[in-house]
Amino acid sequence: MKAVILAGGKGTRMASRFGDLPKPMIMVGGIAVLEHQLRLLERYGCKGIIILTEHRSEVIEEHVSSRASAAGITVIREKNPLGTAGAVKAVQGALAGDFILIYGDVMMDLDLGRLVEFHRAGAAIATLVVHPNDHPFDSDLVECAADGSVTAFHPKPHDDGKFYPNLVSAGVCVLSGSILDHIADGNKLDFGRDVFPALLLSGGKICCYRTAEYLKDMGTPERLEEVERDWRTGKIARLSRAHRRKAVFLDRDGVIVRERGHISDPDMLELVPGAGAAIRKLNDSDYLAVVVTNQPVVARGECTLGGLSLIHNKLETLLGRERAKLDAIYFCPHHPDSGYPGEVVELKKRCQCRKPGTGMIRRAVEDFNIDLAASFIIGDSFRDIECGKSAGIRTIGVRTGAGCMGGDARSVAVPDVMCDDISAAVEHVLRVR
Ligand SMILES: [Mg+2]
Ligand SMILES: [Zn+2]
Repeated sequence: MKAVILAGGKGTRMASRFGDLPKPMIMVGGIAVLEHQLRLLERYGCKGIIILTEHRSEVIEEHVSSRASAAGITVIREKNPLGTAGAVKAVQGALAGDFILIYGDVMMDLDLGRLVEFHRAGAAIATLVVHPNDHPFDSDLVECAADGSVTAFHPKPHDDGKFYPNLVSAGVCVLSGSILDHIADGNKLDFGRDVFPALLLSGGKICCYRTAEYLKDMGTPERLEEVERDWRTGKIARLSRAHRRKAVFLDRDGVIVRERGHISDPDMLELVPGAGAAIRKLNDSDYLAVVVTNQPVVARGECTLGGLSLIHNKLETLLGRERAKLDAIYFCPHHPDSGYPGEVVELKKRCQCRKPGTGMIRRAVEDFNIDLAASFIIGDSFRDIECGKSAGIRTIGVRTGAGCMGGDARSVAVPDVMCDDISAAVEHVLRVR
């Protein structure tokens, strides 16, 4: 697999510490970010790496030539800046087939093998690495369907009256060589602003690859400080898919959002006080925050899958305003009892995913390489607690929502510990670990 690194950026905002070094040469842990990227690409067997430079190219050329392994790396200096897509188009002759594109200011530890496999399986013209971030309100956002294909791009600024998913392109993608045929020669074009939206409009398939691995751009002094701290504390490697992650599974209704019966409309959704701050604490820890929710409203015909997406967009928007994010939302749209007016017949079935079934937990384990013995579930219903016990995770009941009352009081439904609400439950998680 070939790779292109976009290394043209100036580190203007870092000038006080790094003079006028090109951004990719800014050090993290005594090693240039560019070097971190080259080592990652080499670890996954990438050969034929093109580094596109502009500002102070000689510093990058010198770095590459002094490396122990400079074979297969070419530095190409752009004379007339053509934007990200124009610059890559200009080196089309050196690229054939799929290639990885990396923005030169992103610090990452990403399983590139799995990413490339996903791209090939999806047969997309472009696969974007995406994740939720802690400032979706001022980020360019991506919306995708359940199968991972992109349905819309929402560049900032956002409409205050609308709700969006918290999904942001992380500065890495896999592109099929044919994407370059869609770009006119010599034009100043940007992938994110011009090429991807135009492709989507013309019916091209773009996919999202969602990951909880470490990917952060270090474009401002504050973010650089954060990246340096994460490097020092080993967080960057710790979040890699090679390591099993701890997770806190969260029920939705009665735990994160106020219990309102069956929520079938975004207007009905309201956060439990403190939920945003609590989830943000999980985000700051090494725990994944993963929602597992039964949504029989879909099977009952009270809400379509599209309607449920809108409800979840509102959930992510409200949490995002408090700088909190969910690593994933898994829902069960089924319901076992059929024979009601308005129901969606094909969703009326016994399934593996409806809690207390453990199907959603098992999917999350598959997606994120989760260590269940180190994980927790927080719920307000006996179904959440039974699900946690069947999955072998520690269970925390909360007194909000259904308050873990009801059920048939079998011992499996008794949580390991009861807490007042999600805030207290998260405090408990972070205390006992
Ligand atoms: Mg509940
Ligand atoms: Zn289900």
